[in-house]
Amino acid sequence: MQIEDVLCTFCGCLCDDIKVEVDEGRIEKVRGACRLGSSKIMGHNRIKSPMIRVNGELKEISYEEAYRRAAEILINARHPLLYGWASTTCEALKKGILLAEEIGGVVDTTATVCHGPSIIGIEEKGAVGSTLGQIKNRADLIVFWGCNPSEAHPRHTLRYSSNACGRFTPDGRKGRKVLVVDVRETRTARNADRFLRIQPGTDYEIISALRMIIGGKADSLPEDVAGVSKKELIEIAEMMKSAKFGAIFFGLGLTHSRGRYKNVDNALSLVSELNSHTKFVIMAMRGHYNVTGAGQVLAWSSGYPMAVDYARGAPYYNPGETSCCDLLSRRDVDAALIIASDPASNLPRGCVEALAEMPVIQIDPFENPTTLFADVVIPSAIAGIEVEGTAYRMDGLSLRLRKLVDVEYPGDVEILQAILDNVRRLRDDN
Ligand code: SF4
Repeated sequence: MQIEDVLCTFCGCLCDDIKVEVDEGRIEKVRGACRLGSSKIMGHNRIKSPMIRVNGELKEISYEEAYRRAAEILINARHPLLYGWASTTCEALKKGILLAEEIGGVVDTTATVCHGPSIIGIEEKGAVGSTLGQIKNRADLIVFWGCNPSEAHPRHTLRYSSNACGRFTPDGRKGRKVLVVDVRETRTARNADRFLRIQPGTDYEIISALRMIIGGKADSLPEDVAGVSKKELIEIAEMMKSAKFGAIFFGLGLTHSRGRYKNVDNALSLVSELNSHTKFVIMAMRGHYNVTGAGQVLAWSSGYPMAVDYARGAPYYNPGETSCCDLLSRRDVDAALIIASDPASNLPRGCVEALAEMPVIQIDPFENPTTLFADVVIPSAIAGIEVEGTAYRMDGLSLRLRKLVDVEYPGDVEILQAILDNVRRLRDDN
């Protein structure tokens, strides 16, 4: 049986045109997805059974025992961390927030170590945004700043941006200009009409210079700004001003270089000022498929988009204090529930060492380096393939994930509810 219009739950593009062949309840073939998406949908490297660590070795147990052990860890902790959430559904995070309220924990998402600075910048300044559909249908200038979609979001250019054919952009790539700003010549840069190579950590200066040119103050600029000639900057500013509809997509190259959220703040101002001349929008290239949704659910539940501490009985947010890396490096959390993420591969070494010293519960369909030190491992169904739910695309559009096949694994919502029930039961028993 062929199932059409399946969503790919790998990256923030959430491509919704994938075809999947299912035979006797198993996925046999994936058509239309990129290599990253295909491998996720085919579901390699699954965790087979719930496990707990005994004398350094993981030992298989039942789901009931795993839920009970997880609940014991959480209620015995002084200040537990509930981290991840970017590769699961919005419904799962809703349950996670209930659990955090019950145990006085901190909920933080993977955004804290990727587009956290973008979120803070957008909170401060506001963003002129749009849907990916508007960009596909209208944009005649695409700017990729500090991002490399050809490798990280392989179908982005074809479906939504530089190469996409839209209603008012029927010629696709031929009808568009593509500008890449980056510190190195990436694959995306090699396919651009213009590549502006900048020195690492100079995004803020370059954006400020472009703002001055666009604001009519080019005369006040020196002949060279952070290694880029004034002449070249004037040409880039003209390219932006003369577009009918421009879109900037920015990645970690902007948010993780010197200046961090101030770089984003400055880029948002640039786009806002470009709107005095033409139509321009800006969007973060979100990585995990539902990292946008995780921010949305936390924001509408607590008022804050990440790093929310429920230990005081009311949501408290202070990035730099309540974000996972800060908590771990200060040893201010003493147990962790890691869901749908792999901090062992992505957090700084000191934070991973701190995690490895405390009891860790891992909920994930797939084995990853975090499994190597997890004390309780609970395998879950894959959202969008084995369980349904809601996810937000990188432009904030919410999409419904379908269940394609039946499996014996419970979904994240079910697992979190069972842990919550066990927490309440253990509390009542004491
Ligand atoms: Fe999946 Fe992203 Fe590839 Fe689309 S671009 S198929 S969402 S991994």
